[in-house]
Amino acid sequence: MGKVLIIGAGGVSGVVVHKCAQHPEVFSEIVLASRTKSKCDAIAAQLKRPVKTARVDADNVPELVALIKQEKPDLVLNVALPYQDLHIMEACLETGVNYLDTANYEPPDTAKFEYKWQWAYHDRFKKAGIMALLGSGFDPGVTSVFCTWIQKHHLDEIHTIDIIDINAGDHGYPFATNFNPEINIREVTAKGRCWENGQWIETAPLSVKHAFTVPENIGTSNIYLMYHEELESLAKHIPHLQRARFWMSFSDSYLKHLEVLCNVGMTRIDEVEFNGQKIVPLQFLRALLPDPASLGPRTKGKTWIGCQVAGVKNGAEKTVTIYNVCDHQECYKEVQSQAISYTTGVPAMISAKLMISKVWNGVGVFNMEQMNPDPFMDELNRCGLPWKVIEQAVADLG
Ligand code: NDP
Repeated sequence: MGKVLIIGAGGVSGVVVHKCAQHPEVFSEIVLASRTKSKCDAIAAQLKRPVKTARVDADNVPELVALIKQEKPDLVLNVALPYQDLHIMEACLETGVNYLDTANYEPPDTAKFEYKWQWAYHDRFKKAGIMALLGSGFDPGVTSVFCTWIQKHHLDEIHTIDIIDINAGDHGYPFATNFNPEINIREVTAKGRCWENGQWIETAPLSVKHAFTVPENIGTSNIYLMYHEELESLAKHIPHLQRARFWMSFSDSYLKHLEVLCNVGMTRIDEVEFNGQKIVPLQFLRALLPDPASLGPRTKGKTWIGCQVAGVKNGAEKTVTIYNVCDHQECYKEVQSQAISYTTGVPAMISAKLMISKVWNGVGVFNMEQMNPDPFMDELNRCGLPWKVIEQAVADLG
């Protein structure tokens, strides 16, 4: 039994709180804190179990430290934004509490994510005798565990990994993002990047595309080569890896709007002068777009997220595909959220469960693929994200 302090009260947080509340045998107490306390209260009001709420600015380390000292949680689960990661890690170090997040640190003024800032905390976490687990959403998160599980049970060596993320759902808006708009647009407009033969190969944003017939009769989607953070940690932690790529589906409507927004400067992240005050266009755009947490009731259709992994087993070449299918409306029925928040929030809860119950244990800073995949894979099946594995390729991606 343990106490969890959840930071952030957006779309993903709503799912994490619901799912933690479903497991009182592990999460005996839940505290939810964010910048806007009324959003915490709105999530807490959806639940039958009591959830304590608080206001905290997670960019303010002394404020965080005071909250952690007051609440004495066993784990801090960060589902605020990537900008807050290092501040929350600092506060965990100062108070000696384990840390978990779903997205790696990004400096606010540069659209760039890299693990180096968080990996640099390894020795300090180790010395403090505490654990930080990074990137426990679906991608990153489940995708990394899928790869290590395949390595453990299906292949002797992994040579190539293709992570494919399909959202075949429709929210009915011409343009909206399924998670935080600022983080989403920074990620999608970045250069494509894949790992090949020991080096990073860069491509222009969204310039490499394939049509992919999604298994389980989900239809055909265009998928685009992107850079994604688990590629960096998989390249470090999977031996014999020759190539790792990440593909994501986008609708034509999403891409059309994104192109115009980029062309007119609305996705800029530097300050511009407007009517005597400074604004960041992307932050202004974010204020205009639908809140991802509000998409739940109107999003219909399914997500399909999986890994196509090739390598050798007993000297013979072999390809294995592993995936999850998630239905937006089913998620909404269960936790009042669409499937993107659901597929992120459920793995965050599972890792929190495994850390609090000490099934996953360690001192230092870890990525998901460094943990034993088996208990996590079992929990996925139990907690709403069942997976399937087939010993064949599903996509010809060149
Ligand atoms: P939202 O924008 O819906 O929610 C973010 C929350 O963080 C908001 O409640 C916001 O507060 C709060 N917040 C922001 N700044 C601060 C601060 N300084 N102090 C305290 N709270 C703060 O985002 P999502 O729920 O969509 O995403 C949450 C995280 O999940 C992000 O890091 C995102 O990158 C990650 N993610 C990971 C995925 C994966 O598969 N690994 C997939 C999707 C998302 P306020 O309400 O006041 O704005």
